[in-house]
Amino acid sequence: MTNHSDHVRLDPFADPAAITGIRAGVRDICARFPEAYWRELDVQRQYPVAFVQAMTEAGWLAALIPTRYGGLGHGISEAAVILEEVNRQGGNAGPAHAQMYIMGTLLKYGSPELQARYLPAIADGRLRLQAFGVTEPEAGTDTTRITTTAVRDGDRYLINGEKIYISRVQHSDLMLLLARTSPRDDAKPTAGLSVFLVDLRQAGGAITLRPLRMLMNNETNGVTIRDLSVPLENLIGVEGEGFRQILDGWNAERILIAAECVGDGRWFVDRATAYATGRVVFGRPIGANQGIQFPIAAAYARVEAADLVRRRAAASFDAGLPCGPDANMAKYLAAEASWEAANACLDTFGGNGFNAAYDVERKFRETRLYRVAPVSNNLVLAYIGHRVLGMPRSY
Ligand SMILES: Cc1cc2nc3c(=O)[nH]c(=O)nc-3n(C[C@H](O)[C@H](O)[C@H](O)COP(=O)(O)OP(=O)(O)OC[C@H]3O[C@@H](n4cnc5c(N)ncnc54)[C@H](O)[C@@H]3O)c2cc1C
Repeated sequence: MTNHSDHVRLDPFADPAAITGIRAGVRDICARFPEAYWRELDVQRQYPVAFVQAMTEAGWLAALIPTRYGGLGHGISEAAVILEEVNRQGGNAGPAHAQMYIMGTLLKYGSPELQARYLPAIADGRLRLQAFGVTEPEAGTDTTRITTTAVRDGDRYLINGEKIYISRVQHSDLMLLLARTSPRDDAKPTAGLSVFLVDLRQAGGAITLRPLRMLMNNETNGVTIRDLSVPLENLIGVEGEGFRQILDGWNAERILIAAECVGDGRWFVDRATAYATGRVVFGRPIGANQGIQFPIAAAYARVEAADLVRRRAAASFDAGLPCGPDANMAKYLAAEASWEAANACLDTFGGNGFNAAYDVERKFRETRLYRVAPVSNNLVLAYIGHRVLGMPRSY
């Protein structure tokens, strides 16, 4: 996929020329989709079709796809910068990010035939891989308790179940779906789960969507699956080992989300700093008051610290080194830092912070998601407590 030796040589704490070029390229696209674009979509709760199209045409959403399939062949370090830059410019990478964070499972475990069939079309934009179906109403964060089943029926699987908060389904051609292929065994609860690449275009009436209105502009759905027939060859990897296979992808997802939060955090710090410097009340800029200045300075320090951990996690990921603790810490630190920056920015703007025309309240709602999804920060802390520090488990 990527040339790992290149990444080992990279200084994870510096922006080499290639990364600077990526930032500039993404910024050029973002300049065509200013904040007014995102504001209007937010009001209408509409998907940013034109923006996603532009990102696809420029090749950015195929960043992780190997060059032999028409992608850019980048690692997570570069992919993270693409998403960071979108949020840094006042946009929202969320509607487009899944193609990157679920790609790892397909690249690592998809059969050569499956990759050859789908990757070139994803790379050139004929197919969109933006939906990831894991969460279920009853199972919640305990993924081993999902009850969607996939039953082998000759050369196909028949899938039935109920998913919730599955995003971007209406704007995706393909969905990575997690289902149970054998019943849950308390002795080994993670066994018996399998991952499928579902071609939504062929699903017909087997998939019913219930669109859900969320706090922020995020196209997400309740999904009912009834007798969905999926060919055997669309099983990804080994039947029953799906949990481990998506776990690999989760590290990528955490690093990418951390990068989006760093982008948000920098946007908030920039906006707050400029406003605090220009807004005069009681005869002096409000930023001269420590009650305004210090929260912005503290948020800046935390965003920059989170960025270092995210870069370290990405460098390890790209070098093929273990990165679970760093990826989780990066996601936790960045989501907390961007939320702290969001609050400092909102306070700085006073009443204007609540006025949609200033974009602060929109970005505030958008970044809030990342303390809860795609994994809640509580569960990240539980991972660090259990897996890194070896403390007793809560589950
Ligand atoms: C806008 C949006 C988009 C989403 N998109 C997708 C998607 O595309 N695909 C998909 O599969 N899912 C998606 N999700 C689902 C998301 O991943 C989950 O909501 C998230 O992982 C939390 O799970 P839950 O809602 O079931 O919360 P629950 O598991 O019910 O947890 C509720 C609260 O309890 C806490 N909690 C639970 N157990 C523990 C514990 N042992 N220790 C401490 N605290 C605990 C959690 O941290 C959380 O704060 C989306 C969610 C949202 C809001």
